[in-house]
Amino acid sequence: MIDLHVHSVYSDGTNTPAELLAMAEERGLSAMALTDHDTVGGIFPLQEAAEDSPVEVVPGIELSAECERGTMHILGYFIDPKNPALLEKIAKVREGREARNYEILKRLNKLGYILMWSEVEKQAGKDVVGRPHFAEALVARGHVKSRKSAFELLLAKGRPAYVERYRYTAAECIELIVRAGGVPVLAHPATIFMPDDQLRGLIKGLKGKGLGGLEVYYAEHHPENIAKFSEWANEFDLICTGGTDYHGENTPDLKLGTGFGQLHVPDETLDRLKAARSRTVAAMLESNPPVGSVK
Ligand code: AMP
Ligand code: FE
Ligand code: FE
Ligand code: ZN
Repeated sequence: MIDLHVHSVYSDGTNTPAELLAMAEERGLSAMALTDHDTVGGIFPLQEAAEDSPVEVVPGIELSAECERGTMHILGYFIDPKNPALLEKIAKVREGREARNYEILKRLNKLGYILMWSEVEKQAGKDVVGRPHFAEALVARGHVKSRKSAFELLLAKGRPAYVERYRYTAAECIELIVRAGGVPVLAHPATIFMPDDQLRGLIKGLKGKGLGGLEVYYAEHHPENIAKFSEWANEFDLICTGGTDYHGENTPDLKLGTGFGQLHVPDETLDRLKAARSRTVAAMLESNPPVGSVK
């Protein structure tokens, strides 16, 4: 059993990387990818904890791309967490988040949902502060009764405390991941919120820009979505990947590896990602050989 989509306290999960690893061991996973939003901070402690572990850990990231209606996330597997260009770009994204967080707080207070920054920060773990932490802070203050209603009432796209933030285009995210030695994968395609023919066209276009896989197996995908997405993945020669999008205690019914019980990500997925990664690295060396090498 493998799980290729997991969040830690470095973004909006509630578990530390070491806790996630212990959970993966307990549940008998053979591999787990850490895919925190806009940060590589959790990868180093995870790798350190996993030195003698039977669980293979995959360094990953999840980037948010510009998207008209819904949400578009691009996962990157086997990225080099020290790649300077990647670090520089995600630092810019995080600066954009800071400006946005300030604006969200201002709007909430104006709307009468009085909140202090320290209350939001308290909900966050180690690195990225995002909307889920605002939601938790609103619940903690008693302004709303649940995280879900905080989004529905205030924080979701189109709601009064929603503020856009700086993002890259999908093509830029893909290029960034490829240049960091990783394999880019389109996450949970259903959240892009597009009619099928348009979504299919979008995925085809992204394949042309270097997309390597499609997240077909996902805890919240209905069987008909899984069938549709795997058909498209086969058609466009994309690797069918999958994971739970585990965020910890926030969603107690969702379990690492199995999601709501029915999720199964084939073990071979990892080999296919590794093969794609070697091709990425080979292509990069081809176009940009190390100094002193003879072609
Ligand atoms: P951010 O990156 O700060 O915009 O926050 C995005 C995160 O908020 C997602 O990864 C989800 O965990 C969470 N989220 C987004 N929309 C909703 C929603 N409608 N209900 C609950 N959680 C949401
Ligand atoms: Fe998240
Ligand atoms: Fe996501
Ligand atoms: Zn995720």
